[in-house]
Amino acid sequence: MRATKLHIVTYRNDPADAEVTSHRLMARAGYIHKISAGLYVYGPLLWRTLGKIKNIVREELNGIGGQEVQLPILQDQALWEKSGRWEVYQASRTMLTTTDRRDTVFGLAPTAEEVVTDYADATVKSYKQLPLSLYQIHTKFRDEIRPRFGLMRVKEFIMKDAYSFDMDEAGLDATYEEYRKAYVRIFQRCGLEAFGVDADPGDIGGSGSMEFMVAADAGEDAILIEEGCDYAANVEKASSRVAPSPSVGEDPRAMRRESTPDIRTVAQLEGFFPEITADRMIKTVLCKAVHIDHEQPWAVLIRGDQDVNEIKLRNHTGGLAIQMLSDAEIVALTGAQPGFAGPVELPEAFKVVADDSVKGMANVLCGANETDVHLLDVNLGRDCPMPAFADVRLARVGEPGPRTGAPLIERRGIEVGHIFKLGTKYSSAMNAVFTNQNGKPQPFVMGCYGIGVSRVAAAAVEQRADSRGIVWPIPIAPFEVAIAPLKVQDAAQLGAAESIYNDLKAAGIDVLLDDRKMGAGAKLKDLELMGFSVLVVVGRGLAKDGTIEVRNRTTGDEKVPMQVADAVPAVVEMVTAGRSGLLPKG
Ligand code: ATP
Ligand code: MG
Repeated sequence: MRATKLHIVTYRNDPADAEVTSHRLMARAGYIHKISAGLYVYGPLLWRTLGKIKNIVREELNGIGGQEVQLPILQDQALWEKSGRWEVYQASRTMLTTTDRRDTVFGLAPTAEEVVTDYADATVKSYKQLPLSLYQIHTKFRDEIRPRFGLMRVKEFIMKDAYSFDMDEAGLDATYEEYRKAYVRIFQRCGLEAFGVDADPGDIGGSGSMEFMVAADAGEDAILIEEGCDYAANVEKASSRVAPSPSVGEDPRAMRRESTPDIRTVAQLEGFFPEITADRMIKTVLCKAVHIDHEQPWAVLIRGDQDVNEIKLRNHTGGLAIQMLSDAEIVALTGAQPGFAGPVELPEAFKVVADDSVKGMANVLCGANETDVHLLDVNLGRDCPMPAFADVRLARVGEPGPRTGAPLIERRGIEVGHIFKLGTKYSSAMNAVFTNQNGKPQPFVMGCYGIGVSRVAAAAVEQRADSRGIVWPIPIAPFEVAIAPLKVQDAAQLGAAESIYNDLKAAGIDVLLDDRKMGAGAKLKDLELMGFSVLVVVGRGLAKDGTIEVRNRTTGDEKVPMQVADAVPAVVEMVTAGRSGLLPKG
C-alpha cells in the first residue's frame, strides 16, 4: 500500500488524559480517536493490527476444533434471568441496557454464556454431537466504573469469546487444557510475553480459572510469583504461608478484661501492651455481604499482623460485594465504638469466619464489644463458639509461597485473556441438557474462554514501545515493512524505493511505501511513532555509493547500510524470522 492512499493522522502532543504509554502513542499515531469516555474510533492502522490478531486467534482456535459463529449483542432480560445473572449484572451496573419498541428490555452483551447455552440446548440433542466448541470475535459492552488507559479499559471493545460443551468433567478438563495451550501459542505468535496465573473467576463463576497476563508496569493487576516453581497467581487469588503465631500450643490462661481507653488499632495495642505482639492478637473486621435482596453482616477474625482479602471473603460469603460497616452501623450492631469488636459475645446478627492464620492461636488479645475495653487470654472454642475457618487472607510480597516456601515476588500485569471451567453452572440453571448414552437427559459441562483482542494491541504497545514510538511485533504490525524514500522528488530515490516495494510485495511481504512528499526528518519520526519495526530508508547514500539503510527496531535497531539489490533478500529474511512471534527483546 502507498502512504498517500492511507489515512495517516499523527500528532506531536500527547492527549491530556493519557496516563500510560499505549494510550499516548496510539492516540498520537492515529490508531485511536476518542469520541467520549471509553469510546474510540479505531483508525485504519489499528484495524489492520486487529485483523492480524484476529487471524492468529482464528487459526489457533480452528486448530483445536473451534467453530466460528456470531451471537447477538442485544440479549433479552428473560434469558439472563434464567441463569440468575440479570440481577447480578444490574447490581454491579456492569451491563448497559436498552428497550425496544415493545418495551422488551435487553442487555448489551458484556459476555455471552446465556445466549450460547440457549443455542446449545436447542441444537445439541445427543452426546454424539459432543464435544462442541464455538467462538466469536465480536463487540462487548461494559459500563466500567473507570474507563481509562486508552484501549485497555473501555466501554466497548472487541473480545474473542469461546464456549465449550462436553459430556463430563473429564471432557472439560481435556478441552480446557487444549485451550490453555492454544492461548500460549496465540500470545507467542502475537509477539507477546504472556504467562498464565491462577485467578479468581469473578462474575463469570465456575470452579477453576486462569488469566493470561502480559508483564507491563502499566498493568492494573498485581501478580505474586513464587520463584523457582511455576506458582503465579493474581493477588486476588494468591495464597502464601505464614509462620504460626507464637501463641500456638500455649496452655490456656484465664480470660481477663483490660480498660483500653481510645486504643483501637493493632499498632495502638502494641504500644499499650508492649509484651503482646500483633501475631498474638485477633483483629475483628466488621463488614457486610451485599446480596440481591438482602445484606448480611459478617465478622472476620484475622491475626493482628494480617489483612483480609475482600475477593476471597466475597467468595466465602457468596455475596455480590463486600462493604465495610460504617461507624454508625458498627455502633448500632455491636453497641461499641469502632475498634473494640471481638469474637466473645458477638451479637447474633453476625456470621463469623476466621482466617486460617487464627487456627490454633491461644491466649489472644481481642476487642470486648464494649467501648474502651479489650480482652486478654481469650481462647476460641472456650470463651466463644469455635468459628468456621477459611483462607480469607491477603498474600503479600516477601511471604513464603504456597508450593516450596520461596519468597513471593510481585509483577504488574495486563490481563489479555481468561479461561474458565464453568462446569454445569449455566447448563443446570438454564436446564440445558443433551441425551446421554443411556438415553437420559444430562446438563452440558461447559468452559468459557476470553481474549481481549483490542486490549492485546494495547498490551503489545506497552510491552515494546521505545522512546520514539510504538514498536510492533512483526506478526501484528499494520505493515511488516515500511519503505521510506526520503526525497520523493528525487527520481532515483523514488525509483529504487518502488522497485524494492514491488519485489517485497511479490515475495508476499505486507509492505507500505511511504511516498508522501515531506521533510526527511518528519517522515522518519512519523514512521517510528506509528511503529513500523522494519524500515527501509532510501536516502542520500543512494547517489553517493548506491546504498540504502535497513533497520529492524524489534532487534536492537542497528542501521545496516546495503546495496539496493541486497535489501530485498535481507528484509525477507528479517520478516520471515519475525513472523513466528516472540522475539528476544531489543
Ligand atoms: P478485568 O479484570 O480487566 O476487568 P475481566 O475479568 O472483567 O477483566 P473477562 O470477563 O474475563 O475480563 O473478559 C475477557 C477479556 O476481555 C479480559 O481478559 C480482557 O482482556 C478483556 N476485557 C475485559 N474488560 C475489558 C474492557 N473494559 N476493555 C477492554 N478489554 C476488556
Ligand atoms: Mg472487568
